[in-house]
Amino acid sequence: MPEVMSSEVVVIGGGVIGAAIAYYLCREGAEVMVVEEDDLASGASGACDGFVSLQTKAPGYHLRLAMESARLFPELAEDLDVDIEYRRCGGLLLATSQEQMKELRGRAKALKAEGLEVEILTAGDLKDFLPEVGKEVKGGSYCPLDAQVNPISLTLGLAKKAQEMGATILRGCKVENIVVTNNRVREVHTTAGSIHSRRVVCAAGVGSNQIGKMIIVDVPVLPQRGQILVTESREPVLKTLVAGAEYLGTKANIQGLMPADAESVKLGLGFTAEQTASGNLLLGSTREFVGFDNQTTPEAMNAIARNALRYLPWVEDMDVIRSFAGLRPCSPDGLPILGTIKGIRGFYLATGHSGDGICLAPVTGVTISELVLDGETSLDIAPFSLYRFK
Ligand SMILES: Cc1cc2nc3c(=O)[nH]c(=O)nc-3n(C[C@H](O)[C@H](O)[C@H](O)COP(=O)(O)OP(=O)(O)OC[C@H]3O[C@@H](n4cnc5c(N)ncnc54)[C@H](O)[C@@H]3O)c2cc1C
Repeated sequence: MPEVMSSEVVVIGGGVIGAAIAYYLCREGAEVMVVEEDDLASGASGACDGFVSLQTKAPGYHLRLAMESARLFPELAEDLDVDIEYRRCGGLLLATSQEQMKELRGRAKALKAEGLEVEILTAGDLKDFLPEVGKEVKGGSYCPLDAQVNPISLTLGLAKKAQEMGATILRGCKVENIVVTNNRVREVHTTAGSIHSRRVVCAAGVGSNQIGKMIIVDVPVLPQRGQILVTESREPVLKTLVAGAEYLGTKANIQGLMPADAESVKLGLGFTAEQTASGNLLLGSTREFVGFDNQTTPEAMNAIARNALRYLPWVEDMDVIRSFAGLRPCSPDGLPILGTIKGIRGFYLATGHSGDGICLAPVTGVTISELVLDGETSLDIAPFSLYRFK
């Protein structure tokens, strides 16, 4: 006989978003069950960079959400028992043409108008931040509040703390159906049995569209592959996060910042680099719509390596030791989908975080916890509603 369980709240997905929601719900004393079909951080949250980047967010609601998340990180780093390697290291966006510089200047102005500190740097100024930059680099913008975190430690740390506060985590347990009667969520059917619950949060990353189908709601989240190269470990060489302006172009679909050649456009190539606490450099990345294929490809590996040399020529001396690819849960506009569903009480969406889920995890956790427990949120999440697409 399959087991019958019950929980005040069921969170579907044990990635960084599900773990953050479970953590903040537990802090409020809620009874929580996290259902994860594979293992914690087995999805995008375990195959990504750790940028907590503010200057790459769109001015407006997106930036405000990210700034609130950034405010929460230091407290989180203190509270979790796991070292999440959080470091407010600052971030650079590098331009390789005067057109890109112009675009970065315009963005810096808009971001500053919203209270974010951003400085425009000349190529000469970059000497204070980087050992050497490529000849193409014309300058860039610097945000001192940009930070870095270990995404796997963050996910595991949040889940561990939630568990200590009473959450149950079901690993290797897949949600197969959700029962709705009289316009209210009642039950979640899983491979380990049924869970009676009147509140269900979908934090299933690229599995969210499938979860939506269970309640006949179209959740427009598609997998977008991102590939990363990992170098050997070195003494600290990168003080800050580094990204090329083209990274922002491919991420936010900004025409003036798109890569110049057709192959890079096809791969959605944009340069990123960070040095992890263990000394390895993570060099990225791509944005490809190839279904659920999360394999790396030689074509992308070569393109990422060539692109990295344009910005940081000295990485040529470093050996690449491995590579990986992850699937970003991508919404049509690249912004998260947060909120309730019309006509179905007790169902909440926290998905579609695209390339920003690590950065936005704390604010998503707090906000969804408020929504589930109080029915309202301290931040306005209306701009992130599913219904903006209808
Ligand atoms: C290459 C790359 C680089 C990135 N860099 C950054 C970065 O620097 N900064 C940043 O902020 N973001 C970054 N991101 C984005 C970030 O990784 C994601 O936005 C974030 O991890 C999404 O978290 P999630 O919990 O929504 O999804 P996931 O981590 O994918 O978790 C969803 C979980 O749901 C589970 N699941 C799905 N369906 C079911 C089901 N039916 N039943 C039970 N469980 C289910 C899955 O197994 C999975 O574990 C990057 C992504 C990639 C790929």
